[in-house]
Amino acid sequence: MPISENMVQEIVQEVMAKMQIADAPAGKHGVFKDMNDAIEAAKKAQLVVKTMPMDQREKIITCIRKKIKENAEVLARMGVEETGMGNVGDKILKHHLVADKTPGTEDITTTAWSGDRGLTLIEMGPFGVIGAITPCTNPSETVLCNTMGMLAGGNTVVFNPHPAAVKTSIYAINLLNEASLESGGPDNIAVTVEKPTLETSNIMMKHKDIHLIAATGGPGVVTAVLSSGKRGIGAGAGNPPALVDATADIRKAAQDIVNGCTFDNNLPCIAEKEVVAVSSVVDELMHYMLTENDCYLASKEEQDKLVETVLAGGKLNRKCVGRDAKTLLSMIGVQAPANTRCIIFEGPKEHPLITTELMMPILGIVRAKDFDDAVEQAVWLEHGNRHSAHIHSKNIDNITKYAKAIDTAILVKNGPSYSALGFGGEGFCTFTIASRTGEGLTSASTFTKRRRCVMTDSLCIR
Ligand code: NAD
Repeated sequence: MPISENMVQEIVQEVMAKMQIADAPAGKHGVFKDMNDAIEAAKKAQLVVKTMPMDQREKIITCIRKKIKENAEVLARMGVEETGMGNVGDKILKHHLVADKTPGTEDITTTAWSGDRGLTLIEMGPFGVIGAITPCTNPSETVLCNTMGMLAGGNTVVFNPHPAAVKTSIYAINLLNEASLESGGPDNIAVTVEKPTLETSNIMMKHKDIHLIAATGGPGVVTAVLSSGKRGIGAGAGNPPALVDATADIRKAAQDIVNGCTFDNNLPCIAEKEVVAVSSVVDELMHYMLTENDCYLASKEEQDKLVETVLAGGKLNRKCVGRDAKTLLSMIGVQAPANTRCIIFEGPKEHPLITTELMMPILGIVRAKDFDDAVEQAVWLEHGNRHSAHIHSKNIDNITKYAKAIDTAILVKNGPSYSALGFGGEGFCTFTIASRTGEGLTSASTFTKRRRCVMTDSLCIR
């Protein structure tokens, strides 16, 4: 008897009815006091998800896209209010990007070999419940984007979000579960705890039912996950240099670099964090940054004050991360014009404001004597993160040389850094770029296991 969609739906409903999922507090879908309870609920939800037709997963994802768009402004405002970082306008754009360009089930594909000895398939199957650790710099964007990909792959997910962004992350987790319930799916496709801590993170990492952990954040968390004994996807820190050579359209390079650097106050890990330019174009580049792109040139004295404020006691001052240029300048007693977007200065690559991943619109410009020197300095500044780098050049030999030398997951040519996320560039969107472990830009297929299904001596009808 052929199996109809109605029959599959009935089976799914039956499985759901038999399950007693520990109820989350009313109005807070997917939020639990205890990490073990959260994982248990996600495990039960995954039993439903894995029996669903792909079409049903896609229905939930479509509903998630709709909810993200409806709530983009709320999420953006909440993120800025809770973390004190970034700006509402750009965060709204980031949410629309997640809604429009995060891949769904179409990313789950099959490889087939068919011949005289039969038919062999590689099918992408779910891991089960995935553990995910998320940053405060793109809190809801990462939670939403991770869940869409993980669900498309047939998984559910337990989050340990950054404690400084817990309210925003929980709001996003609520939306995800509402979307699932409204589309006929289970509650708890994404779960978390009311108070995420390092302890809850450790419980999650050691839990017997978690087989894959996706860590998005700085070097500490990626190292912790890669030491957990579980398979880890490590999306770590960057310090992306933008190289400008003598063949570049300098006026456009200045505009692209400032646009990329100032997007969401420089929070994205892919954003331009410093510039390395060949000596012959440095003055022209800075001229366009200052005259056409609302940059502020910091004097030596102002740079010193910025170092004292931004890197107080040699440590990155969290109160400065994700702040706009005008606020940063006011912190050192400078009243800059209202339209100031970015603080620039020329300095050596060892300058603390250049060598450190600041995540704020301060852009140091390093002078190189020629192209090879520029490549060498840019590679040094990327610190072996293998994360992101950018280049402005019309010379394909130079671009190729740089690409090979810097060896990053992302290399944007002749555009702002955010085009790597599909914003003004081709390709899909993600907020988890697996730089350390090499998966690169993650999508649904990243969160699946490859399985070989073999039928011998039949089903080849060629
Ligand atoms: P962070 O490293 O302070 O925190 C990230 C997450 O890891 C948080 O949830 C935090 O609670 C947790 N964490 C930190 N140390 C941990 C440990 N030892 N064990 C378990 N959990 C731990 O980073 P952040 O300030 O939230 O975000 C900014 C950093 O993340 C930057 O370095 C940025 O480049 C990076 N980042 C990378 C990507 C990427 O896709 N590669 C995306 C966004 C941010």
